[in-house]
This record gives sequence, structure tokens and C-alpha cells, in this order.
Amino acid sequence: MSILLTDDEAALQATVRRYLDERIAPMVAEHERARTFPWDALAPLYDFGYVRGVVPEELGGDGLSAMMQAILMEEAGRCWGSLRTTLNVQGMVARVLAAAATADQRRRFLDPLLAGERRGWFGLTEAEAGSDAGALRTSARAQGETYVVNGRKLYITNARDCDFGILLCRVVTAEGQDAGITALLVEADQSAYGVYDLPHMPVRSTTSCELTFDDTVVAADNVLGPVGGGLSLAMGAVNGGRLNMAMGAVGLAQACLEASISFCSHREQFGRPIGGFQLVQQMVVEIATLTETSRLLGYKAARTLDAGEPGRFECSMAKYYCGESAGRAATLALQVHGGAGLMEESPVERYFRDAREATIPEGTSQIQILHLGRALLGISALR
Ligand SMILES: Cc1cc2nc3c(=O)[nH]c(=O)nc-3n(C[C@H](O)[C@H](O)[C@H](O)COP(=O)(O)OP(=O)(O)OC[C@H]3O[C@@H](n4cnc5c(N)ncnc54)[C@H](O)[C@@H]3O)c2cc1C
Repeated sequence: MSILLTDDEAALQATVRRYLDERIAPMVAEHERARTFPWDALAPLYDFGYVRGVVPEELGGDGLSAMMQAILMEEAGRCWGSLRTTLNVQGMVARVLAAAATADQRRRFLDPLLAGERRGWFGLTEAEAGSDAGALRTSARAQGETYVVNGRKLYITNARDCDFGILLCRVVTAEGQDAGITALLVEADQSAYGVYDLPHMPVRSTTSCELTFDDTVVAADNVLGPVGGGLSLAMGAVNGGRLNMAMGAVGLAQACLEASISFCSHREQFGRPIGGFQLVQQMVVEIATLTETSRLLGYKAARTLDAGEPGRFECSMAKYYCGESAGRAATLALQVHGGAGLMEESPVERYFRDAREATIPEGTSQIQILHLGRALLGISALR
């Protein structure tokens, strides 16, 4: 019995954990080494509520509570960072489509995405527009019934393996006026754009892509939401994304804890298991405490959303604390493992790399601190 979860929530957690342990975990090491991803394994996970859970039932989704979604992300993070990231981005694309797509766009993009037949990327970041997303420069100039797109995007997760994407760009009217940041649905087989995979440290089974748009033509039918409404559309999905990142980090910290307990129980030095040394116990207890406090903050944020509150403060705090704690937990887990922890055959080597991702996308730790500071003090340090 769990004092934090209802019976249904605990049952979901147990079922999805068993499935991930049995079906996904055995293939992680091989895919990480080859930097590949088992795309065929993705859609079956939607039956548990991944991706479909973020979309209301009336739009064809499962309409899961924030708490159920948090549990799903915790379990994905415990199993494999690349999987958690991939599910998070597909969920984000689904969430934005559900919020703004026309009936025709839902038929073309959302329905097949929920059926596991299409995959989407989410393109906001640029070389000069990272934390300051509003500074983006990629343009879409209106021309008859089309938009002509020029610009570049950076670090776009899995764009190489998706067949469409949501592109945030600045619409310029035929008269040359800036009409504001707007979301465009861009299809790989309709609009020519370049995709270049940038080798990167964490979540190695994802691609992190640069996208180039050189006079790329996009049909005006593919504008998602109102012209000029792109940034608020993206920001509308940000709370859920932050909580997803936070809960993935909780799962990663939990994996660090389990690996550390297992390792220090059987590794012997000086004639006894290293778990018997006080300094090793201190590291394990710190990992456990970081994991548990992170979990409590993440669950609190989820319950706040389920109570109908905006939850911005709670999701920011969870993103900040859980991300930073996962980094510390992974550092300690690596230390518990000694030299073995630095070898690629050890899962903690992967946890250590993947933990670095937890503090950067969906608003860096510093940006979360500034949001929290503004809420607490009523003074914005952002601008
Ligand atoms: C693995 C990975 C996957 C990603 N996937 C996607 C994706 O799918 N789609 C997408 O659009 N983007 C994606 N991103 C981009 C991500 O959202 C950005 O990296 C993030 O927003 C930070 O932007 P930046 O990298 O330009 O860093 P910068 O904004 O340049 O920040 C650099 C440093 O300065 C600090 N800083 C910046 N401004 C302030 C300030 N005002 N006060 C204090 N400190 C500040 C930051 O905290 C950071 O420490 C991904 C990134 C990574 C690493």
C-alpha cells in the first residue's frame, strides 16, 4: 500500500514498471552503444497512457490525470532517459495539437500521432534564442496561399526520425509587417528542409538536430492556432513539459539508488561488502533522500494541477529541484561504483550522462530560479 498513490495509480505504476523492465530495459545498452532507437517499441507504450494521456478523451486521447502522467514519466525515466525524452516530445506535440488544431489538422496530424503512425518534432530553439525564446528569428513570409520559411533551428529532438514538426517562427505579412511568433505544421514530404544530427552527450538514442529552412514553402492551411499566437501556444504546454522532465529526473534518481544498493551489497573490499562502510552508506542515504524529496515535490505539482490550479510555481520548483537532485544522485551513484561506474557497460555511466539533460531543456535551472524568484518577491530579474 502506498500513502502517496491511490490504488489505481499504484496499479498503473506496477504494470508499466513491469513492462518496461521486461520489454524495454534489455535492449537499452545495445541501442545506446549504436545510438539507435527502437521505434517499433514506441506505439505499444501508448496503450499505457503515454502520449495519449495528455489529450482529452473527446479528441481521441485517454485524458489522464496529471498524477497518472507523472507516474508514467517517472517510470520511463527510471528505465531509459532516451525513451523518456522521446515520449515527452511526442506528448508535447500532441498537447499543442489538441489545444489548437482545426478539425482538418487533427485528422491529418493528431489522430495518426495518437495511433503511432506519425511522429512530430517541436522546433523552438535557435542559435540566438535559447532561454530567451521570444528572440527567435526564423521567418515565414506570406506569399499567396503559402508561407516561405527561412532560418535555422537548433537541438531539435528526434527531428531526423519524425515526418512532421511544429515550427515556431515569425510571420511576416505580404506587406512586410511582423505579425508575431506563429506555429506552423511542417511536413517532411511536402516542404523541403535540411536535418543535421549533432552528436551529443546525454540521451544518446535520441537525435539532437539542426534544421535549416531555405525558402521552404509551407501551405497556409498548416498554420496552427492564431497568427501571432505561437509563443503562448508553446508556453501553454510548458507546465506539463516541466513536470514531465521533473518526474523523469525522479525516475533516474530512483535508478541510481537501486543500482547503488545492489552494487554496494555485493562489491567487497577490505574483506567485507563496501555497503558496510559508513562513508558509502552516507552516499547511498543521500541518493535516497534526494530521490524521495524530489518525488514528493513532483507529486505535489501533479496534485496541484489535478486540483485545477495553474501550478506554475510548483512545476517550476519541481523542474529545478528534481533536475539538480538527479545530477547529484548520479554523481554519487558513480562514486559508489568506483571505476566500474565509469565503464560504458555500467548503467550508472548512462545515468550520469543523462542526468545532465535534466537541468537544461524546458527552461534551465537558472530560468526556473528566476520564475520562482519573481513569484516569491514580485520582482522580475528576467528583463
Ligand atoms: C538534449 C536537448 C534536447 C533539446 N530538445 C529541444 C527540442 O526538441 N526543441 C527545442 O526547441 N529545443 C530543444 N532543446 C533546447 C533547449 O530548450 C535549450 O538548450 C534551452 O532552452 C537553453 O537554451 P540554450 O542552450 O541556448 O542556453 P542559453 O539560453 O544560452 O543559456 C546558457 C546559460 O546561461 C544561463 N542563462 C540564460 N539566461 C539567463 C538569465 N536571464 N539569467 C541567468 N542565467 C541565464 C542558462 O541558465 C545557462 O546556464 C534541447 C536541448 C537539449 C540539450
